[in-house]
Amino acid sequence: MFSSLRSRLWISYAFLTLAALLIVAVGLVVALGRSPLLFRATVLKMRVAESVVLTRLEALPFPNGPLAGARIETMVRNQADSRQLRISILTDTGSVLVDGGVGITNPLPVPNRPFVTTDADPNNALLIQDSQKTDWFYILHKLDTGHYLMVSTPRPSLPLAQILRDDLLRPFFQAALVALLLGLLLSLLMGQWIARPLHHMAEGARKMADGKYDPIQPSGPNETRQLAESLNEMANRVQTSQQSQRDFIANISHELKTPLTSIQGFAQAILDGAAQTPEALQQAAGVIFNEAGRMHRLVMDLLVLARLEGGTADLQKAPVDLGLLLNNIVDKFKLQAEQANVRLNLQVGALPIITGDGDRLSQVFTNLVDNAIKFSPAAGLVTIFAALAGPDVLIQVRDSGIGIPAEDQKRIFERFYQVDKSRKGGSGRGVGLGLAIAHQIVNAHHGRIWVESTPGLGSTFCVSLPVVQVAEKSVSARRPNA
Ligand code: ADP
Repeated sequence: MFSSLRSRLWISYAFLTLAALLIVAVGLVVALGRSPLLFRATVLKMRVAESVVLTRLEALPFPNGPLAGARIETMVRNQADSRQLRISILTDTGSVLVDGGVGITNPLPVPNRPFVTTDADPNNALLIQDSQKTDWFYILHKLDTGHYLMVSTPRPSLPLAQILRDDLLRPFFQAALVALLLGLLLSLLMGQWIARPLHHMAEGARKMADGKYDPIQPSGPNETRQLAESLNEMANRVQTSQQSQRDFIANISHELKTPLTSIQGFAQAILDGAAQTPEALQQAAGVIFNEAGRMHRLVMDLLVLARLEGGTADLQKAPVDLGLLLNNIVDKFKLQAEQANVRLNLQVGALPIITGDGDRLSQVFTNLVDNAIKFSPAAGLVTIFAALAGPDVLIQVRDSGIGIPAEDQKRIFERFYQVDKSRKGGSGRGVGLGLAIAHQIVNAHHGRIWVESTPGLGSTFCVSLPVVQVAEKSVSARRPNA
């Protein structure tokens, strides 16, 4: 019953309201208890007694030395008894000369000296505690003779319970009722403000679970808006990931279908006896072998990519001499470049030794140089450049080939992405995994890979790798056991 946001809000409001009212009530009682307002009548009574006794004293002779005037004593006692106060006369040393009235059984609480007279503020009295811990109000007046007239009374107890019951309870109940009703209204409004967007989001999430990705309109307070935006973002990512999974499966199926069809066709020819001559048999076996090899390469590439993407690829990091590594690659491509009538140019300055997996890094630059040659026209130029750039080594593979349109540059590092399969070089044995693998390998080395290209003029693939200082021991371009 109280699990909904609305009811919980209402309970919180009710609790807060009651707590606030209680605090106000306690504060009021404490303030009243301390206020002299409630004691004003008592002080007034004491002041009247003071002035009456003073007038009477003027009419009576006040002898020096010990008070002998029995008439003074009687007058003081009479006044004290009739006014229900305690009236005393003290010497300036604090000895009690006359004392009478209420509380006479308690010893008179004599204020500390020097005496402070209370004539300045006729509405106020002073407070003193006697030896029995009783609080007394008193006023003190200095007589012309040098004695002191003291009028006192035990501090009256406050009728707080009565004040509360008669004057405060009703308005408090009324205030509490109004506050609770207001709280109910506010909690309804607040509940709606928060609950409605949450309800929309729950509905949106349910639809997402069913595969319908309608964006949720952000509404309500900032927090629910942010939640809606996060949900939309998540839905986008899920959609993209699902799409990329579908594309991935479609791409693999497509790439496997072509070699499988060839293998099936030629195997069928051998089985049916269509290929009988040793040359025909040789050709069929050759095609089956090549296509199986192509499938094997594809599967191996996928495996490497999956491991790199999943972070489970076991990189054999060791000191790598990049200059040597790039030299080896140029050597490897000399023949291919000659056949394609492309000139290979190596521009490598002094490079520091970096830490990395030599084999994997070799795979990156092999792919870049292979592509550069593949996509260059006859008499083209491919430059491999490497230099230190701040804390990194920058390696560039520049070609004077067909270039890559701007919209494709963002995507060429995706799996299976090929700009245009019909382009020169695109019809080769590539399936669009090389750059995706290169990207993952560079990432695993905490580096960056990107492309700068102008269609028709050529492309520059850039790789920046951080220099990690290592001891110059067992320096190699490839792994020692490779
Ligand atoms: P592929 O095996 O198809 O070469 P890659 O992942 O290496 O796969 O490259 C992806 C695509 O990027 C290529 O199909 C090609 O369209 C484009 N590409 C890569 N390198 C170049 C280049 N140097 N010049 C022009 N296009 C390139």
